[in-house]
Amino acid sequence: MFDTLSERLGSIFDKLTKRGALSESDVNEAMREVRRALIEADVALDVVRSFTDKVRSRAVGQEVIRSVTPGQMVVKIVNDQMVEMLGSDAETIDLNAAAPVPIMLVGLQGSGKTTTTAKIARRLTDREKRKVLIASLDTRRPAAQEQLKILGEQAGIDTLPIVAGQMPVDIGKRALSAARLGGYDVVMLDTAGRTHIDESLMAEMAEIRRTTNPHEILLVADALTGQDAVNVAKSFNDRVGITGIVLTRVDGDGRGGAALSMRAVTEKPIKLIGVGERLDALEEFDPKRIAGRILGMGDVVGLVEKAAANIDAEQAAKAAERMRKGQFDLDDLAEQLGQMAKIGGMSGVMGMLPGVGKMKKQIDAMGVDDSVFKRQTAIISSMTKQERKKPDILKASRKRRIAAGSGTRVEEINKLLKMHRQMADMMKQMGKGKGMFSRMAGMA
Ligand code: GDP
Repeated sequence: MFDTLSERLGSIFDKLTKRGALSESDVNEAMREVRRALIEADVALDVVRSFTDKVRSRAVGQEVIRSVTPGQMVVKIVNDQMVEMLGSDAETIDLNAAAPVPIMLVGLQGSGKTTTTAKIARRLTDREKRKVLIASLDTRRPAAQEQLKILGEQAGIDTLPIVAGQMPVDIGKRALSAARLGGYDVVMLDTAGRTHIDESLMAEMAEIRRTTNPHEILLVADALTGQDAVNVAKSFNDRVGITGIVLTRVDGDGRGGAALSMRAVTEKPIKLIGVGERLDALEEFDPKRIAGRILGMGDVVGLVEKAAANIDAEQAAKAAERMRKGQFDLDDLAEQLGQMAKIGGMSGVMGMLPGVGKMKKQIDAMGVDDSVFKRQTAIISSMTKQERKKPDILKASRKRRIAAGSGTRVEEINKLLKMHRQMADMMKQMGKGKGMFSRMAGMA
């Protein structure tokens, strides 16, 4: 996601932040490069222009040039401006209406409408505990209604029974009354698409809208089609009116043009993004997080959330208390390694930490991968209880035994012991003495 743009901006900012002082022409030069990077990422030209103008006018201000870290100030301004361009606050599907809340999905053929209908239904069922009915109003594509029915069965979501030969508007009305009678909270209407925008499609959508009065009208658009997706959104918004956008195939989108310009051009929020074919591959679109990812500031929020979801708080508190007392032994280290592995191992953590996005490739190349964790864990589990409590007693013969037992080498054991000593010292020094992850879990 956004890989190419992220790399380009990363190298521009590297140059900026390395300098002690910045002149106005340094800022202007950097803005020219940012502009080029955004255009290459396929961001709409108007959006690029207004973005760089705003950043420049804030960045050449005296306070930036005179600040202690002018480069970082500029990066922060770019970050803030990008968050604003993306819509500032995350917006989700609005269910604040009388049940059954009708949600209509529109978009071109192949954009991912049917899949997204099932994904959203699953999400509303799992996270919001809503009872959802889904219906396909697509009478154009043969088997479209069948496809939704099969997806519904896979997802465990009720679908409206198919009545052969019924017209879209009538299916819509039937879906609403079935939802009312069946006590559903939400009724989702998946509509027909075309390969391109045409008048008969727009007329059909407008008519369905008029007769079903949806609370949300979500446009589903394929991120890989770049600015075409933005134009499609604009057309649907002008003609039918939409309340939000779901951008699909963001998983394969290295450029990001559609994601970056959608909001600014249509003035409608991207509410969700599709990041894969599986039914759970649907994420919220949080401007702050997305900007962070693009600018290589890392997805710290994501890391914190992931850590919080996976870490046993009670165990973490116990470990923290032991560390505070300077009792960080090898059992504690093994536990920390286990927690790292749980939140996606080194590669998972690295990808999300600030500033390490770029380094990740180099680290991968060096071979510091997750197998290191597994080997370290194997070493610790080949030790006796006493050895784990008092690593000082580990002399050459014991190390040879452990190496043989864990299928590793004595050097690796020495490395591990050195790491443990360093960590133990660090823990003692840190006032609170909490481990990195238990602190993050506490923050979330
Ligand atoms: P529709 O014609 O708009 O209803 O499109 P479909 O829902 O049938 O989707 C077309 C294809 O795109 C299917 O193979 C889906 O699995 C795939 N697809 C949908 N959303 C995503 C996504 O977010 N990522 C990826 N990689 N594939 C997707």
